[in-house]
Amino acid sequence: MEKKETSRRDFLITGLLASVAAAGCTAKSPFTPEADQNVMPSGEKVKLLSVDGEIIEVDKAFLKPIPETHHVSNAEARKGIAGKKFVMVIDLSRCKNLKKCQEACNHAHFVPDAQNWIKVHPMQDAEHTAPYWQPTTCMHCDEPPCVKVCPVDATFKRQDGIVLIDSDRCIGCRFCMAGCPYSTRVFNWEEPTLPKEIAHQHYSCETSVPQKKGTVGKCDFCPDMVRKGELPHCVSACPNGVFFFGDMNEDSVTNGSETFRFSDLIRDKAGYRLMEDLGTKPSVYYLPPVNRNFKFEEGVKSEEELKKEKIKNN
Ligand code: SF4
Ligand code: SF4
Repeated sequence: MEKKETSRRDFLITGLLASVAAAGCTAKSPFTPEADQNVMPSGEKVKLLSVDGEIIEVDKAFLKPIPETHHVSNAEARKGIAGKKFVMVIDLSRCKNLKKCQEACNHAHFVPDAQNWIKVHPMQDAEHTAPYWQPTTCMHCDEPPCVKVCPVDATFKRQDGIVLIDSDRCIGCRFCMAGCPYSTRVFNWEEPTLPKEIAHQHYSCETSVPQKKGTVGKCDFCPDMVRKGELPHCVSACPNGVFFFGDMNEDSVTNGSETFRFSDLIRDKAGYRLMEDLGTKPSVYYLPPVNRNFKFEEGVKSEEELKKEKIKNN
């Protein structure tokens, strides 16, 4: 497997720095001198909210203004980005069930408390094989059964392959939930608890925020981040580099610090997709859980789960 010499790290660091001004930073902090050799720390610290909901301190010199992005209408959001075909690769050999992906996703999309759009399942292929963790997202199928059964065109596939939901159109019939073989969709039975400023926002297909009672939600591949040239929140948040994201047309995927030719990665590491025989043609590929050098630890809990347990027990 050939690692691309022209890493996208610089590009991604620029993007990550931009996002910090808006929403915090990632678990792999770029705020170190080696992140940008030309910037000298000023010694002045600024407090920011990370994607995990933690307060972090960074040197002011490493902040950069967010580039102006124009408002994306729902009509534009439905079209997607021309010339792109987005793809995700999940390396099962690296997953330790830290659930940082899930936390970042929930935080960014204000996913209701009882739900998760990213799930991490304990898996074991046979009695004598080692168990492993398998994160699942929406598979952003090229032949999505969910889209075919939606009676009101509320769920749709864009030209860049991303499958989204327009909550303004969704009538909550849940045909799509029945149609999805990956059980990735969740139904909003309750009005989600949202901060005031979010609750009053107009719904956007690009951010999937705010979610509404009586509609369906799911992983959206963070198209708003992708449009800005940044990585989906789960990719940036994973400290083990489990998630790779990229463009199939460019034949390139990255987890933010490593970049691979997509076709080489899938060929050399025997990548596969879930339930390929169904003909859904998922855009999410998995690398098998081989050569792991850490133990499978049952019951590892995320900080969010521990917080919820604490509240419950008090
Ligand atoms: S629940 Fe909403 S998105 Fe799903 S099939 Fe019904 S109308 Fe379409
Ligand atoms: S995984 Fe399910 S919800 Fe996602 S595109 Fe495929 S069928 Fe639709």
